[in-house]
Amino acid sequence: MQQPHFIGAHVSASGGIANAPLNAATIGANAFALFTKNQRRWQAKELEAEQIELFKVHCDKANIPMEAILPHDSYLINLGHPDKELLTKSRLAFFDEVKRCEQIGLQLLNFHPGSHLRKIAIDDCLARISESINMALDCSSSVTAVIENTAGQGSNLGHSFEQLAQIIDGVEDKSRVGVCIDTCHLFAAGYDIRTEETCNHTFKLFDQVVGNQYLKAMHLNDSKTPLNSRVDRHQSLGQGEIGQQAFASLMKLEVTRGIPLILETVQPELWRDEINWLRFLAKQ
Ligand SMILES: [Zn+2]
Ligand SMILES: [Zn+2]
Repeated sequence: MQQPHFIGAHVSASGGIANAPLNAATIGANAFALFTKNQRRWQAKELEAEQIELFKVHCDKANIPMEAILPHDSYLINLGHPDKELLTKSRLAFFDEVKRCEQIGLQLLNFHPGSHLRKIAIDDCLARISESINMALDCSSSVTAVIENTAGQGSNLGHSFEQLAQIIDGVEDKSRVGVCIDTCHLFAAGYDIRTEETCNHTFKLFDQVVGNQYLKAMHLNDSKTPLNSRVDRHQSLGQGEIGQQAFASLMKLEVTRGIPLILETVQPELWRDEINWLRFLAKQ
C-alpha cells in the first residue's frame, strides 16, 4: 500500500492546544503544525491533562494521526548559541518543548538549528547544535528531533545539505533525528526547484548528501525573494518566485508521502484551496 499524503497548515492553538486540530479540520487538512506554547516567550504554563485529552479526541475526529502533526519550537531558542549561559537557557527551553510533545503524545519536534551570531566558527556552532540534540533526546524516549533547513539569513546555519548532514553526523541516536525541508528556505538558500528537472536534481542531491530516510516533514511555501537571496519571506503557493510547477513536481516525489506537508503561506484564507490544489496535483 502506498502511503497517503498528509497535507495541512501551521494552525492557531490560541485558546488551548485542543483547538489546533479543530482549526485543521476546518480547512480540510489531514496534517497540521502548531506551537505547544507561546512561541515568543521563554516560560509557559504546564499543559492541562484535560487539554491533552481533548486534543486527542479532536485529532481522532478529524482523522489526523499523530505522525501527521508537526509541533514547532519557540523562535527564541538558539541551540548553537555562542554564549554559554544563553546556550543553557536555550537548551532548557528546548528540553521543555520535548517534554511537552511527549506529554501530548506527539512524535516529531521541528526547530531551526541555530545561529553562530558571528562569534564562533561554523563548525563549532554545528557541533553545539548536535550536542543540544543529543541532550534533548535524552529527555525523551519517543520524540524525534526534526531540523529545519534555513534560508541562510544572517548567521543562521542549516542552509546547506552539507550542514544538515554535519549536524546529523554528530547526533548519537540516528533513529530519532530528521530533517524538515522548507521549500521557501531551500530556494532562498540557492537550491532551484522551479522545473521538474531542477526539482528532481535538488532532491537527488538531498538523498546523496543527507539521505531520504531523514526526511521527516516539509514546509510547503512559495518565496517572495529570488533564488539564493538568503532572505526568508514566504508567499502563497504559485504566487512567488518559485511558482506552480515546483509543487506539481514535488507532489510526484515518493518522499513526500507519509510525512506532514505543512503550509506556512501568508494568506490563511487560501489554505483550504492550497490544500485542495496539492491533493489534485498528487493525483496527476
Ligand atoms: Zn518553515
Ligand atoms: Zn521561513
